[in-house]
Amino acid sequence: MNGLVAGLGRALMIAVIYVVTTPAFAQSAQVTLTFKAGSATVDARFDLSEAVDVLRFAGNGEVRLKSWVPSDGARLNSDGTALLLPTPQKSFSVQLKAFERDGMLDRVYSPVVLFGDGRGAQIYSEYLLPKGGGFVSLATPGVVLGRSFAKGATVWRANDAATYIVAGVGYTKTTTAYDITLDSALPRWVVQSLDQQVKALMHLYTRKFGSRPQRKPWIVVSFNPAGSGFRGDTNPGMVRLNLMGQSWEVENEGQSYQLASFLAHELFHLWNAGLWNMQHQEPIWLYEGGADAAAHHALNLSGFSSAERYRNERASSLTGCSSANGVTLANKIAGGGRTHYTCGAAVFYLAAAMGEDNGDAIGPLDLWADMFASHQTRSYATADLLRVAAKRALHPASATVATPRRYLDELAESTLPWRDVLAQGQQAFQLHQVKPDEAMPPAVAANLLGQLVIDKFAHDCDG
Ligand SMILES: [Zn+2]
Repeated sequence: MNGLVAGLGRALMIAVIYVVTTPAFAQSAQVTLTFKAGSATVDARFDLSEAVDVLRFAGNGEVRLKSWVPSDGARLNSDGTALLLPTPQKSFSVQLKAFERDGMLDRVYSPVVLFGDGRGAQIYSEYLLPKGGGFVSLATPGVVLGRSFAKGATVWRANDAATYIVAGVGYTKTTTAYDITLDSALPRWVVQSLDQQVKALMHLYTRKFGSRPQRKPWIVVSFNPAGSGFRGDTNPGMVRLNLMGQSWEVENEGQSYQLASFLAHELFHLWNAGLWNMQHQEPIWLYEGGADAAAHHALNLSGFSSAERYRNERASSLTGCSSANGVTLANKIAGGGRTHYTCGAAVFYLAAAMGEDNGDAIGPLDLWADMFASHQTRSYATADLLRVAAKRALHPASATVATPRRYLDELAESTLPWRDVLAQGQQAFQLHQVKPDEAMPPAVAANLLGQLVIDKFAHDCDG
């Protein structure tokens, strides 16, 4: 209740200030979310500090155009960044729909994600408030950042970190390391595996990087029997995962590995996005490919994947990137698709393959640990990856000290064609040409022949 009173007080103050300074359009809003069990939409009721005929929002217009259905005569403008009202009014409602497919827009947070059990909906906070700010309340019970809220509570304010808001009922479990809210439609084996996997991965990352996330993470997991695949994203202090399709209903090794690698990727973002920030203008591959490579290394270290599977992951990113359109790394990334992930991960594997720790093989997590450890500013860039990789690759006795570093620099800076760097740096990167009789799973082998793969697996330990 205190939160509500404080929120109202603050909204009134904001309103008073705006009336004095910019009366025409700076509007703060109280947005009240209502979710009814079984419904496909969430109702967002807007109560404004004063009557207006235009309510403006900062960005995200495309998302509103695809998911907002205003009522009470309101409509969106052509780019989705303003609501237009027929006459000045202080309140109106908008139905918030889920995207046709979760993750329909690449690297854009889905506005509404429904629980498969029909009892809960996740609403992304960032799209709701107008430029003038305000706060979001729930007309139904809900959960935000692991905390349960009663009906009527204020759950999010304009300056709070972006998050998903769960409206309705979710089963929330609290542990010392994390809180998790689950859709009761999730297959039982998924719930059991999540328990194990989240615990092990959080522990591994915390140990490897010597720090915990700033706040205890909140994980929300939903299940949608329609569609296929999975979708997840990370916000400060929270990760949300959505499993889609009936293939998740049956437990098998493939699904279990997919769940673990998806989880390991998103949880890693709690460190590379939550604790350290990528510097402006840096390529996305550093962030996303770096997270993929870290995740697969983590799965191997925590026993969720065998040495062979880890080797195949590395081989597939390398050959995946080699076969992507484009001559240099930058060309390949510009080609779109999943190249941020495949090529980015490949660069991390190559950087790790040329390094070692007292004669032992290292992996992407070691490079990340070095990058995190050496930066006071809590930010990182491609130059930091190159620097820590060069440091790991240092063999004082060798006459070719400069070579591996130069190859990696030329690869990452796109000053040489991808294939040329790989061919010339074969030795430095521990690469070899795949032979026709080499043992490989058929799916990997089909893409591999004639390509270079990372070869350092002889030193890998399993577990
Ligand atoms: Zn990611």
